[in-house]
Formats: sequence, C-alpha cells, structure tokens
Amino acid sequence: MPDQYRVLQDVFGYDSFRGDQEQIVSHVVAGGDAVVLMPTGGGKSLCYQVPALVRDGCAVVVSPLIALMADQVGALRQLGVRAAFLNSTQFPEDRAEVERAYLAGELDLIYIAPERLSQRGTREFLSRGELSLIAIDEAHCVSQWGHDFRPDYLALGELAELWPDVPRIALTATATKRTHAELTSRLHLENARHFVSSFDRPNITYRIEPKAKVKDQLLEFIRTEGVVDGEQATGIVYALSRKSVEELAAFLRANGINAVAYHAGLDRRVREDTLHRFLREDGIVVVATIAFGMGIDKPDVRFVAHADLPKSIEGYYQETGRAGRDGLPSVAWMAYGLADVMNQRRFIDQSDGDAAHRRVQSQLLDAMLALCETPGCRRQQLLQYFDQHIEPCGNCDTCLNPPATWDGTVPAQKLLSTIVRLDREFNHSAYGAGHLIDILRGSDNARIRQLGHGSLTTYGIGTELDAGGWRSVVRQLVALGIIVPHGEYGVLRATEKAGPVLRGESTVMLREDAKAPARARKAARGVSAAPDLSEQDRGLFEVLRRWRTAVAKEAELPAYTVLSNKTLEELAHVKPTNRDELLAINGIGQNKLDKYGDQVLEILADFESA
Ligand code: ADP
Ligand code: ZN
Repeated sequence: MPDQYRVLQDVFGYDSFRGDQEQIVSHVVAGGDAVVLMPTGGGKSLCYQVPALVRDGCAVVVSPLIALMADQVGALRQLGVRAAFLNSTQFPEDRAEVERAYLAGELDLIYIAPERLSQRGTREFLSRGELSLIAIDEAHCVSQWGHDFRPDYLALGELAELWPDVPRIALTATATKRTHAELTSRLHLENARHFVSSFDRPNITYRIEPKAKVKDQLLEFIRTEGVVDGEQATGIVYALSRKSVEELAAFLRANGINAVAYHAGLDRRVREDTLHRFLREDGIVVVATIAFGMGIDKPDVRFVAHADLPKSIEGYYQETGRAGRDGLPSVAWMAYGLADVMNQRRFIDQSDGDAAHRRVQSQLLDAMLALCETPGCRRQQLLQYFDQHIEPCGNCDTCLNPPATWDGTVPAQKLLSTIVRLDREFNHSAYGAGHLIDILRGSDNARIRQLGHGSLTTYGIGTELDAGGWRSVVRQLVALGIIVPHGEYGVLRATEKAGPVLRGESTVMLREDAKAPARARKAARGVSAAPDLSEQDRGLFEVLRRWRTAVAKEAELPAYTVLSNKTLEELAHVKPTNRDELLAINGIGQNKLDKYGDQVLEILADFESA
C-alpha cells in the first residue's frame, strides 16, 4: 500500500480520502506545488498533514492564527504526530526546545506565524534542518483587497526562491477568481497545479429576513433554531461595530443565553479566554466583529447569525462557512434593512481610498445586496459569485418559501418624482427616507408645515403603502442603485438609472418582504447532534459524550480533538467489541486506539449489559 493511504488509516483513522484530497496529496507527496481552493469543512488540513508525514523532513505550516496554534498542535499530538509551533506566546526555553527538536529531525510539522517566517534569523535556522514542504494556510490573507489582508503574507512569495526544491501548497476557503489569481502570483505559484472544489455547503440553510427589531429577531432565531436536542447550541453572531457587539451580547445574556462579546478592542487576554471557552464549552454564543473566527475548526457550530449586513459576499461566505463543519444541518441567518444599505453606502462614500478603491468596494456591496434582494435561490446566487453553477437548492428561505414579487414601478415613480421635485422646487434640497415617506403618506407634521412641503404635487399620493412598505421600496431602490444616499445624513438622490423609470421606459420589480419571522418558526425544529441514531443508541451516544467531556477537561483540550461527534455516533451505532473493530471506526487511528481504546470498549460493554 502506498504510504499516503497507510498514513490516512493508521494516523488519522479514515478509510478513504475525500473529494480532491487524494489527488492533492499524491501531487504534493511527489514534490509538486499546489493551490487548493476548498470550502470550510472540506478537509484542507489533511492535504498537507498527510504529505508532511510521508515525505522526509519537517513541514512548515504558515498560519496567521497564533491563538489557535496550541490547539492545532495539541490535536495532532493526540494523533501521535510529532508537531510543534513557534510563536511569540512561548517561553524562550520552550522555543529553544522546539528548535533543538527540529534540527535533530524529531519533528514532522512545525506551525509558524508569517511575521516570524519573514525574519532572516528564522529562515537561516530553518535552512539548517530538512524541510519536507511548506503549507500556506489561509492563503487569501495575501490578497490586498481582500477582507483578511495580512501584510506579512506578502513576504511569503520569497520562499519560492529561497527554497526552490521544497514543494509549496497554498490553501484557502475564499474562492473568487480575483483572489485566486492574486494569491497565485503573489506567492509565486505560477507552476502549481490548481485544485478547485465545489464550494457548496449543502448542510447549511441560508436565511435572510428584513430587519425590524433586530435584537428580538435574533433572540427568537436563537431560541427556535439555535437548539440541539433541546439544548442551547453553539453559535456565532456577527455585528459590525464594537458597540453593537457588546449590546447584543448583554441583551442575549439578560435573556438567559450564554453569550460572550469578542472584538479587537478587548484586552488580548480577554479575547484569548473567550476563544478558549468557545472551543471547549458547549452551547456558547460568541457575539463578535469579523475579527473572530478565521481558522476556528470547531466542528459543531450550529448557527451563524449576521445582525448587520456584511461588506462583501466573500466575507459573508467565510463567516457563514464556520457553521456545520461536521456536515450536520446548520443555519446561516441574517437580518438586513434599509439602515444597513444606507450605512454601507455612506461608509464607502466617505472612505479615504481613491476612486478605484471606492468602486471596488461598491461592486462588492452591490453583489451582497443582490443576494439579499434576490427572489431566486440564495445558494445559486452565492455560488454564481464564485463562478459555480447549481440548480435551485431547496434548502434556503427563497426555495422553501418563494417570495412574491410585485410591480413597484408606480410607487418608484412617486418616490423619484418627490425627490426630483424637492430638488427643483426647493432650491436643490435633498432629504432622507423618513421625510420622503412622510410627504408621500401626507403626514401633517411640524417639519412638513415649516418647510412648506405640503404644496408638492406628490404630497399625500402614496397612501397605498404604510411606512414599512415604503421603507421596503426605498431599500430596494437603493439596492438597485436607482437612488443613492449622499453625505453625512444619507439624504437620497436619484441616479441616472432613475430617468427610464420616471419616463415609464423600465419597470421595477420588487420583492414582497416576508411578513414576520412567524413563518420561519414553523420550519424550525432545532437539530440533533446525532440525527441518524435510534433512541437506544442515542443514550449510548450521550454516555460516550459525557466520558469525552471528562477526558477533554483532564487533558485541557477541546472535546472534538479527543474524538469527534461523528466518531462517537459511529461508535454508538456499530458498538465494536474488540480493538480491531475499533480501528475500523472513522476517526480512530493507532494512537487513539492506544490512548482510549480500552476505556471505550469498557463503556460499550457496560452499556450493553446494563
Ligand atoms: P477545513 O480546514 O477545510 O475547513 P478540516 O481539515 O478541518 O477542514 O476538515 C473538516 C473535518 O472533516 C474534520 O473534522 C476532519 O477530521 C474531517 N475529515 C477531513 N478529511 C476526512 C476524510 N478523508 N475522512 C473523514 N473525515 C475527514
Ligand atoms: Zn435555494
């Protein structure tokens, strides 16, 4: 048997490679360079961990995630792999020991942060040992226009000339053509083979609903859908500002949810503690800015919620991708409203970048808005963005409850002509959505009287919609680029796209907003951690899970690095009675057999005889 298959079975305990893994591993084992685009949960780590164990020498894994290195290395050591890391959090004597082990040829993998690898001293030191390969994880961090740019990644291109004979493999879950091309050239991977997987994450349900009272909506969502076997599930909530992160976390806590805030403004120790808790506790909800989450390979995150509109589809897809790495049903939920669009447009308008930069930002936002407003399948639209094509999925809100569309041309004309008339008849003045809606609905308030806007011919011609209905129209017209918010107060102006609408030359199809989350509630059922087990086997699964929690606590490791839920599920179903049968279970290799085999067999035997 060729070495890579033996490593897969003996060390990792898996019987077969998944998807592109087999080809990638063979290519890198043979010394080739590779660029790997695979969605989160696709199994990127094996693509370099297996070759690292097959090839002579030690592999360098470049990872930006210093806070996670200890856990990544801990998980490998659980498998009996000789792994270590070098970073600034170590004591000098620990670092010296790792360096000694490397030079003595006693390591198979060494994790290093990019800033360390760009230092000359590190490079000289590494050159004194034998390198088997270089893996560049989260390779999209080299992309300057991307959402996770790390300047230290730019220097990684030099590794091509420094060690021309060492194969390099770059991996990322970000899949746009632009990022792909950019990382290939910046990392000097011109001669690499490219492996692009399907980016679909079929176990994630996508839902985007209109934002009303976002806190209540979020709470409702978490209570109904963020539940596994009747208990609070683990999840991540994203919000854009530190302030809203803290407010949302406090609100959830006040409502009995185990929620913690995480953002870059918090003390480093507080952040590390949160990360630590997130990886170890069950049923914890982290409310975070986008600074949280990259590289976190906690497999059982059951939901990712966005309380604010993300800036791009790349960001949204990365963040939602953190749900359901274990392949079990998970939900990506978002609330989105007029204020989100206004804020982001204004944000881009006032950003310091040059015109070209602003144009890029604005295109990213347009694609994100199109996803929010599409009456078609969300997943289709998402994958389309990555140039991949699928049929409507049947597992997103628009597939499950196709939204009605309606001809909004007349309301759009009414709104546009109000904007145009205000500009023309009132000395180039422009107003925000609230005031325009007041005019259209014929509100008799002090501001309208004072400004004399009751004299406009469009005053009171829009009583067919209530204020909420009008906000939906405004939001969609902004999303369609027919009107744009302008300046600090977000006053609305018509764009060149308004002309054809006003002249009746183009129609405006709008989406009927879902009335209330009530509809979602019906579909919600919460999920189960082990959906395929019988009632009886589930009892055994729970016993195994409690045992695992105790073992993990004792070893100070995240529970899933002891044995994954999938492995526990298979154990509860198959009920092996001896060591050979145990080895046939997915996720149990030689090392885990030696470590836990006897204990597991004992638990299984006890359960059977009880
Ligand atoms: P990624 O880094 O692409 O997000 P991981 O490498 O963390 O994904 O893998 C996701 C999950 O799939 C992990 O729990 C991993 O153990 C599991 N996995 C990966 N490859 C295989 C395989 N060939 N057989 C069974 N499980 C696998
Ligand atoms: Zn769909």
